[in-house]
Amino acid sequence: MRSLVPDYLADVLADVASDTSGELAGYIPELASADPDRLAAAFATVDGEVYGAGDIDAAFTIQSVSKPFAYALALSDRGFPAVLDKVGVEPSGEAFNEISLETGTGRPRNPMINAGAITVHSLAGADDPEPGARVERIVSGLSAFAGRPLRIDEAMCASEMDNAHRNLAIAHMLRSHGILTEDPRAVVDGYIRQCSVLVTPRDLAVMAGTLANGGVNPVTAERVVDAAVVRQVLSVMATCGMYDAAGDWATQVGIPAKSGVSGGLIGALPGQLGIATFSPRLDEHGNSARGVSLFERFTTDMGLHVMDVPPAAQAVVRSNHIRGHGSAAVRILQVQGGIRFAGAERIVREFVADPPLQRTVVLDLARVSSIDDVARRMLLELARRLTADGHDVSFVDPESLVTRSRGSGG
Ligand code: GLN
Repeated sequence: MRSLVPDYLADVLADVASDTSGELAGYIPELASADPDRLAAAFATVDGEVYGAGDIDAAFTIQSVSKPFAYALALSDRGFPAVLDKVGVEPSGEAFNEISLETGTGRPRNPMINAGAITVHSLAGADDPEPGARVERIVSGLSAFAGRPLRIDEAMCASEMDNAHRNLAIAHMLRSHGILTEDPRAVVDGYIRQCSVLVTPRDLAVMAGTLANGGVNPVTAERVVDAAVVRQVLSVMATCGMYDAAGDWATQVGIPAKSGVSGGLIGALPGQLGIATFSPRLDEHGNSARGVSLFERFTTDMGLHVMDVPPAAQAVVRSNHIRGHGSAAVRILQVQGGIRFAGAERIVREFVADPPLQRTVVLDLARVSSIDDVARRMLLELARRLTADGHDVSFVDPESLVTRSRGSGG
């Protein structure tokens, strides 16, 4: 049997194929000569399955879709304080290439607009690197997200650099505020190289899938960045990724996303999948016109809005029963699924509402797939309180989800 997913993707592509609205990005000559009709969509699940339809192996330059990944690398390489000191996290509501900085601090408002992305570029890799080392760090970092070695399109790079007046103006302004401390031209050159990395829709789906998977590439299993970095990146994508269309996007599509002027668009749905679309004609915000339509369809058809979350607590308690008789009776609570605060509260309530009459209490976690830190602490505290009330409490915990030592994640 064939999977339904590629067939679904092919159907949705066919539905948007006739839409030729929008324009190619004109300000980079090499981009203006791209084939406007190319069209693709790809999904990468967090367990490493990649599906696609259309031109999923067509190569194009990554452009601004590189921004969230470069931000992730800068946060990993320099730490949060050093990056936040120079680039804010507030949506600007402005176009991607707006020449504006936060009043007072002189910081770019966020890492998704060019002012922020140029600054972020200067923060990737080591402080004061050898010439070329920063771009190498970024290309190898983007490659780790994609799960294969990527390379720079030199012709695109030269074409953009020849016409980079606006980015140069932004960089000079950043330099005058002390946000950039290096030669502005060299930083813009590096940033444009970052934007000129060649990717395919399949690559972008895996890169987005790595963000959806908490920083571990779902295909290669390599941890590229920490989960805390991914949370920061996805939050900024959700609020700033679509420039001055961010609010419409958040309400109508509801997937943390990033677009680029070459027509790429990615979305990362935490815990589920990475999505990429490719169609070069852009709408008035500089976002891929058919890409936006595709994402709207995906959300509607498949319920992908991040705010649509199934109730977490209802299915947590699998059974609450007594085994054995008399003084040998044991109270067994079997729980299941992924447990977070609301699920742990539901488990605690089970014992508060119906205090066990049996001396021995067993919390059976054999069917628990994941547990976060707060839930783990709540279950340990539950056990401590039951013990204080005179019970013998034990966990069935084959994966050591609760009983392992603190600080090992969860
Ligand atoms: N390299 C492009 C620029 O800086 C990227 C912009 C984009 O994709 N929105 O203008």
